[in-house]
Amino acid sequence: MALSIIPHPSPNFGPRKPVAGKPRVSHLVMHYTGMTSCEQAVQRLSDPKHEVSAHYVIDEDGTVYNLVDERMRAWHAGVCFWHGLRDLNSTSVGIEICNPGHEYGYRAFPSAQIDAVIELAGTIMDRHSIAPCDVLGHSDIAPGRKTDPGELFPWQQLSEHGIGLWPEDTVTLPGHADMTGALRRLSEIGYAVPMTPELGSDILNPASAVTDVIAAFQGRYRQAQVDGGLDNETATRIAAVAVQFAEARG
Ligand SMILES: [Zn+2]
Repeated sequence: MALSIIPHPSPNFGPRKPVAGKPRVSHLVMHYTGMTSCEQAVQRLSDPKHEVSAHYVIDEDGTVYNLVDERMRAWHAGVCFWHGLRDLNSTSVGIEICNPGHEYGYRAFPSAQIDAVIELAGTIMDRHSIAPCDVLGHSDIAPGRKTDPGELFPWQQLSEHGIGLWPEDTVTLPGHADMTGALRRLSEIGYAVPMTPELGSDILNPASAVTDVIAAFQGRYRQAQVDGGLDNETATRIAAVAVQFAEARG
């Protein structure tokens, strides 16, 4: 498929800040726009008043808008945490995928749009040597604060194209959901959990932190049940994903 990329420059960007030991672009972050129309989203992400942006916006018909040069730091991640990193804007490329979102009528992502996501993500990952395990959703890095791209986003399909991880096999666990083990594994994967060292209260509300993080995990890896509860199936999938991340990171 030939990707149609329309330049639509946004003034909302700055220089990337170097992060020790990491290439300057090491992650790819997926979002949904959460607005009723794509046109409206592109306008907002290009409006200096709002101070938000992304490198790309993908319309439901697969049209791609390029708002910020990949060499620059776009403003899409906000307050976040992933695997010891807090300034994901400096280390990532951000893609906004047009969808009204949970607030305005969340709906399935059309196949033309997902084809464009796969095509664009592949080229970005090639350009910057981004590993599959470093493709994230906004909800992964800001649990409780963000729920995009949400449980209708086809992460399993994307993983078949090397975009993001998806557990191939289930792991055998004891017959009960072990909260301490699950939280330790979520922390190893990269999620901000209450036991994460030096985690500030700006990242998570401690009172809701545990259910928020589990719900973020479910929105990505157990999309049929996003309730923040740790049942056996969720615990099993957490363990399976933790194994995949450990293998991917060597
Ligand atoms: Zn987002």
